[in-house]
Amino acid sequence: MHVFGIIGNPIGHSLSPPMHEAAYDELDLEGRYVTFEPEPEDLEAAVDGADALGIEGMNVTIPFKQDVLEVVDADDLATRIGAVNTIDFSGPTPTGHNTDAVGAIRALRDHNVALEGSTAVVVGAGGAGRAIAFGLADAGATVDIANRTESTAHELAEVVPDATGHGLESLEELLADADIVVNATSVGMETDETPIPAGALHGDLAVMDAVYRPLETRLLRDAAAAGATTIDGAWMLLYQGVEALEIWTGEDAPVETMNEALRHRL
Ligand code: NAP
Repeated sequence: MHVFGIIGNPIGHSLSPPMHEAAYDELDLEGRYVTFEPEPEDLEAAVDGADALGIEGMNVTIPFKQDVLEVVDADDLATRIGAVNTIDFSGPTPTGHNTDAVGAIRALRDHNVALEGSTAVVVGAGGAGRAIAFGLADAGATVDIANRTESTAHELAEVVPDATGHGLESLEELLADADIVVNATSVGMETDETPIPAGALHGDLAVMDAVYRPLETRLLRDAAAAGATTIDGAWMLLYQGVEALEIWTGEDAPVETMNEALRHRL
C-alpha cells in the first residue's frame, strides 16, 4: 500500500483526496491519500513521523506552507517563493517543492496562453500571488504585481525577476497593455465581488482566477462579457496536484480523470 496525504490545520473538506485517489485507480496504484491535522507546534514531529512511517508524499497547506521550509530541503523555486506545498519522501531526507507555481503555469499553457515575452499582471501578493509571480517570471513574462497593501507588492517585485510593484489603483492602466491577468487575492471567494474593475477588461486578455469557490466568479463573468479568455481556479488546483503526483510516482498523471474527480466536487 502506498500512502500519500496532506497536512493543514484546519484541513476541512480538502478536495485533494478524491482527486488523487481517482488517479491511483486509473494508474492501478494501490494507494491512499489521507488528511492530517497536526497542531502547529507539532509540524516537525509530523514531517519526521510521516517519513519514519513510510509515507511517500505529502501536500502542505495553510498554515504550514512557510514554516515547513525549516524542516525539509526545499528546492530552488520553493526557496525563492518562500513556501513549500509538496514534500517528497523518496530521498534520504524529505525534499520540498512548490507546485502552485508550476500549476498556475500549466493551467495557462493548457488554455494556449503564450507566456514567453508576455506582459502579465498578478493581483495579490500573498502566498498564491508569490507563487504565480515567480512562475510567470520563470516562464518568460514581464510581471506587474498589484496589491491592496502596495508595500507588499514592492517587496515581492524586488525578488521576482523583471517585476514591478503597484497599488490596486494602477490596475486600469496596467491592464490596457497586458496580455494576462491573474487574480491571486481572496476577493470573490464565497462572495460576488471582484478586485478588478469590469471596465479594465478587454478581449485580448487571458484572465485566470485562483479563487475556485465559486468556479464562476464575478471576475470571470466580467471577463467573458469583455470577450477575454477565462481560466477558472480549479485548473491551478488541478495542475498543482498533477505536478505533485508526478513528483511522487514518476509517472504521467491521468489529468482528465483528476479533473473530472475535482470538478465533480466543486
Ligand atoms: P493570502 O496569503 O492570505 O493572501 C491574500 C491576498 O489577498 C493578499 O494579497 C491580500 O492583500 C489580498 N486581499 C485580501 N482581501 C482583500 C480585499 N478585500 N481587497 C483587495 N485585496 C485583498 O492568501 P493566498 O493563500 O494567497 O490565497 C489567495 C486566494 O487564492 C484564496 O482565495 C485561495 O483560495 C486561492 N488559492 C487558490 C489556489 C489554487 O490552486 N487555485 C492555490 C492557492 C490559493 P493584502 O496584502 O493587502 O492583505
